[in-house]
Amino acid sequence: MKLQLNHVSKWYKNVKALNDVSIECESGKITALFGPAGSGKTTLLKIIAGLERPDNGKIIFGDKDITPLPPHHREVAFVFQTYGLFPHLTVYDNIAFPLKVTKKYSSSEIDKRVKEVADILKISDVLQKYPAQLSGGQRQRVGIARALVKDAKILLLDEPLTNLDYKIRETMRGELRKILLSSKDKVVVYATPDPIEALSISDYINILIHGNLLQSGETTNVYNNPRNITVAQFFSYPPMNLFNGSLSYENNSWMLNIHEIKTSIKLNEKVIRNLSADTSTKYRDVTVGIRPGDFMFFLSYEEYERSKKEGLVTLSGKVLTSEVLGSETLIHIRIAEKGRISVLIPELRPIELELPVVIAFNPLNIYIFDKKSGELIYSPYHIP
Ligand code: ADP
Ligand code: MG
Repeated sequence: MKLQLNHVSKWYKNVKALNDVSIECESGKITALFGPAGSGKTTLLKIIAGLERPDNGKIIFGDKDITPLPPHHREVAFVFQTYGLFPHLTVYDNIAFPLKVTKKYSSSEIDKRVKEVADILKISDVLQKYPAQLSGGQRQRVGIARALVKDAKILLLDEPLTNLDYKIRETMRGELRKILLSSKDKVVVYATPDPIEALSISDYINILIHGNLLQSGETTNVYNNPRNITVAQFFSYPPMNLFNGSLSYENNSWMLNIHEIKTSIKLNEKVIRNLSADTSTKYRDVTVGIRPGDFMFFLSYEEYERSKKEGLVTLSGKVLTSEVLGSETLIHIRIAEKGRISVLIPELRPIELELPVVIAFNPLNIYIFDKKSGELIYSPYHIP
C-alpha cells in the first residue's frame, strides 16, 4: 500500500505552512519528515490524520482518495511529541483505551494485545502504574505502545524522542526502528528535526524547510548527495564545515583550491560540461563542505606519519573547545586563516584546550557546491 500526498498546500491565515508538497510513503518502510521547527512537519502529519484539511491537494491511500474522510475513518494512529497520556488511567488502561473505544474486541483479546505491545516496548513491569510515576522515556514508550496496539494501517509519529534525555534518545533510536517495523504492512511516517535520528530510523526522507519540500529520496542517498547547501547544512550533525574555494582548469585537469591548498579533483564529463557551459573561463567559485566526521585527528605530524595514511591534506591548529556528544567527542579547532573547524571523533576523549593538533582529510571525501546557486557540484558518493 502507498500513501501519497499530491500537491498539498496549507495556509494558517497569512502563514503558508505547506507549499505544494508532494510525497509518497510506502508500507513496510519508515518515511521521515525532516526539518527544523516551523517547517510544517506537524501540519503535514495532521493533514494525513485528517485533523487538518489542506487548502489544496489530495491525500491518496492505496487507490482511494481519503482527503474528505474524517480522522476516525482513516485507520491512522498518532504518537504525539508530548505523549498525550491520560493521567487518571494506569499504563495498562492507557494502552487498552484505543481498543476499548472501538468496542470491536473482547476483553481477553484486548488483554492479549496490550501485553504483547508492552512486551515489545519493555514496559510490562509498569502496566499497573500511573503516568506520573514513570520516567520520560517510559511515558514515551507507553505513547508508542498505545499507537501500535491499534494495528492501524498508517502510523504517524511526531518527534517522539525530542522530549527525552540525550542518553535515552540514543538507546531508543536503536530500538525504535525494529519496533516500528514489527508489523510489516504499516505506512510509518516519522517527523523529526534530528538528522541522526532521521538517519538511524528512516528508509526514505523528505526534507521540509519553511513549508517547501527541498529533497526526497532514500535517506542515505539524500545524506550522501544533498541537492544543495541548505539541505547539506540542515541534514548534517554536527553541521558541515564550509570553506570558500574555487575550481580551476589547469594543465588539463580540474584543481580544487581552498586558500593555499591546491589539489586535483576528478570530475565527470557532465559536471565539467556544466561548469564550462556559461563561462569560457574555466574557473568557478565554490563552497566546499567537509563533515566533522570526515576529518582524521592527530596529536602531531609524527603521529600522522606513523598512521601511514596517504593522499590526505593536512592542516594544523589549536584546540579551542571540545564537547561530548553521546559517545563521541566534537573538537573545535582554530586553524590560521581558515577559521574554525569542527572535528568529530568516535570516542570519548578529554582534550586539553590550546593543544596543538594536526587534522587531515581525504580530498575526495568532500562536497563541492556552486557558490552562487548553492547547488551540489560534487559529492564523494555520486556525481549529480
Ligand atoms: P513543525 O512541526 O515542523 O515545527 P508546524 O507544522 O507546527 O511545523 O508549523 C508550520 C508553520 O505553521 C509554522 O510557521 C507555525 O507557526 C504555523 N502554524 C502551525 N499551526 C498553526 C495554527 N494552528 N495556527 C497558526 N499557525 C500555525
Ligand atoms: Mg511539530
